[in-house]
Amino acid sequence: MSKFNTNLVHGIPGNENKTGAVNPPIYNSTTFAYPDTESVIRWDYARSGNPTREFLEKLVAQLENGDRGFAFSSGMAAIHAALSIFSPGDHLIIGDQIYGGTFRLFNQYFKRWNIEFTAVDTRNSAAVKAAIKPNTKAIYFEPFTNPLLHVTSVRKIVEIAQQNDLLVIVDNTFLTPYLQQPLNLGADIVIHSATKYLGGHSDVIAGVVVTKSKELSDKLYFSQNAIGSVLSPEDSNLIRRGIQTLSVRLDRQLLNTQKIVAFLQKRTDIKKINYPGIPGTSEHAIAKDECKNFGAVLSFEVQNIDVVKFVNNLKLFQLAVSLGAVESLAELPAKMSHAELSDTELLACGISPNLVRLAVGIEDADDLIADLDQALKLASNS
Ligand SMILES: *Cc1c(COP(=O)(O)O)cnc(C)c1O
Repeated sequence: MSKFNTNLVHGIPGNENKTGAVNPPIYNSTTFAYPDTESVIRWDYARSGNPTREFLEKLVAQLENGDRGFAFSSGMAAIHAALSIFSPGDHLIIGDQIYGGTFRLFNQYFKRWNIEFTAVDTRNSAAVKAAIKPNTKAIYFEPFTNPLLHVTSVRKIVEIAQQNDLLVIVDNTFLTPYLQQPLNLGADIVIHSATKYLGGHSDVIAGVVVTKSKELSDKLYFSQNAIGSVLSPEDSNLIRRGIQTLSVRLDRQLLNTQKIVAFLQKRTDIKKINYPGIPGTSEHAIAKDECKNFGAVLSFEVQNIDVVKFVNNLKLFQLAVSLGAVESLAELPAKMSHAELSDTELLACGISPNLVRLAVGIEDADDLIADLDQALKLASNS
């Protein structure tokens, strides 16, 4: 069997291609002809299945080592479809620092359908166990959280789940299958906002789900086809193309991140850096044990720096939410990605107004560091 990087580039061998084209074709067809009324055909209608989307779905299933993959029109659509396997009366334990859109979908949408949620710090096994109720069906979390980079052990959550007959659902957006394969650690369902690293170029909104068992695959397929928020053939092809360079992009991003962290560590105007690659924390120990690397997102608190002036003066880092693409981005969580939280809520979850989050791209590290350096100088209060 080929190895990971080879699989990224070549995917699943298809027999669709009779032209010699090195890329799988984009089938822009919503419907597929029956040879005659008695025929059983593989494709009939493109919401139910499209060969271009299926190539991507098989590819992500292979990369995450799952039974089956499903591609959706956004990460949120993927999460919606995955959560739709539950029923009124079910209870889920969720990470207390999950993506804001996910929290909103759970608490403002699924709650109305009588699904209950308890948010806990999933790093704390005792808290997770204490939250289990007779109707608990699953634990849903992000192994690396945004923007504070809390790290939860997938193995520990799986252990608790298996003792209590619960499903484990992991949003693996921040790590990608290149850095962690949650199904191999015992999880049941993996979700991605493919908008981020899998796409990798800030030009497609997409989501994927990968299931571990045939039983879960059947449920997810039902959700996908019934709800219908499928990824278009064109966008499926863009995510496929993005995936081909996933590991090369990430290798550069990881190296750049390391260099930026080393630069920040030397400065007196940087108060605290949140990055699991820094030794000496439990986050580091877990990440070292369960992941291939520590990711390319970090956050830090500045001191004696006008934080707004700092980010406004960045030239190469663009001031924008999102992450995972070739270009470096900076944002102020308190004013941007987490703006809907009140000051007390921000404080409660540990997001200081002086916190800056970076999503590191593939540029030259020296240029990125020079940009941070000049903007810090301009924003200095001393
Ligand atoms: C962006 C993101 C999502 C939502 O995905 P969309 O593609 O924006 O719908 C979900 N989870 C995480 C961790 C994300 O970063």
